Amino acid sequence: MDRDHDAPILLTPGPLTTSAEVRGAMRRDWGSRDADFIALTARVRERLLSLVDGERTHVCVPVQGSGTFAIEATIGTLVPRNGKALVLVNGAYGRRMVLILERMGRAVATLEAPEDGCHPIAALDAMLAGDEAISHVLAVHCETTSGILNRIDEIAAAAAARGRGLVIDAMSSFGGIPIDARDTPFDALVAASGKCLEGVPGLGIALVRRDALAACAGNAHSLSLDLYDQWESMERSGQWRFTPPTHVLAALSAALDALEAEGGVEKRHARYQRNCRALIEGMREMGFETVLANEVQAPIVVTFHAPADPRFRFDSFYAAMRSRGFAIYPGKLTEAESFRIGCIGNLDEAVIRAALAAVREAIAEMGLESCGRRAA
Ligand SMILES: *Cc1c(COP(=O)(O)O)cnc(C)c1O
Repeated sequence: MDRDHDAPILLTPGPLTTSAEVRGAMRRDWGSRDADFIALTARVRERLLSLVDGERTHVCVPVQGSGTFAIEATIGTLVPRNGKALVLVNGAYGRRMVLILERMGRAVATLEAPEDGCHPIAALDAMLAGDEAISHVLAVHCETTSGILNRIDEIAAAAAARGRGLVIDAMSSFGGIPIDARDTPFDALVAASGKCLEGVPGLGIALVRRDALAACAGNAHSLSLDLYDQWESMERSGQWRFTPPTHVLAALSAALDALEAEGGVEKRHARYQRNCRALIEGMREMGFETVLANEVQAPIVVTFHAPADPRFRFDSFYAAMRSRGFAIYPGKLTEAESFRIGCIGNLDEAVIRAALAAVREAIAEMGLESCGRRAA
């Protein structure tokens, strides 16, 4: 794995460390109406669909902007104005979908679980059985707030059994954790260019069941975030409605080449799992404690309890890591004081071991006696 020594290694859940090939793919300009760029768009859309085996049932609609833009476009287009969404919440990204629905004036219900736990499927089923108005279930695959892997297969089966649509926020898992549209029925799965696909940020991706999207003309509350219009116009002309992020798409194409060369999503998942295991083992050896149990930990980002030692300060820890070439991530839990270290991107176990060495130096520099957490 190449390393640009001027830039830090990003141990974050995105943007993340990219390869020289991906960055290099941005060195030429593309005309947005040019046949080359139209062909590039078509090819990237097809390849993204093939990652979920969705070529026969689903369509790929890219959306300019960060992941949230694509989430907002998907929810606003798929959930009809008189529909109702049930959002499964166990972290900030579930809560963000609730906010989006409230802003749009769509009816919303929530099923909450603790930030370190999954939703009981029986409770989901009971809510669907008890409320006929719920048209869609909205769930986060890997809730990046903690790094928990929600049970998306069981959620999909429960929604399908009650005849409700499912929208999956797979932002921090798509490309890094396998998901197959044939086994996990969904109306839409939303992802982004700059996370496990290892492209650069700037593009959201919605993979939508064709039949579902075809029925959504006029649903959207917004012009630029109308997924139906974006799809319809792309199918008709092959072109984007508004200025596309040309260089981001070129980088994503190179990133898809790299994913293929690596052996696909399963192989990438295995690499992320090795990174994650090495990280957790190394941190536990130093006395750090993870917020999540191993069984629910996704190999994406790991949340650690802040050490109880009063000499620990996240800002000093961050600076000590940054001066050694690593960018880590603050915590986002509402309950516990924490910080996060990502294990995705163009990096392997050797990079994780180097990061662990940097953590060892950082705790010595801060003069920590112990890395254990405050007793609850
Ligand atoms: C990154 C992420 C998003 C989108 O966040 P942006 O800042 O808009 O890119 C949404 N959901 C999850 C789970 C994420 O990890």
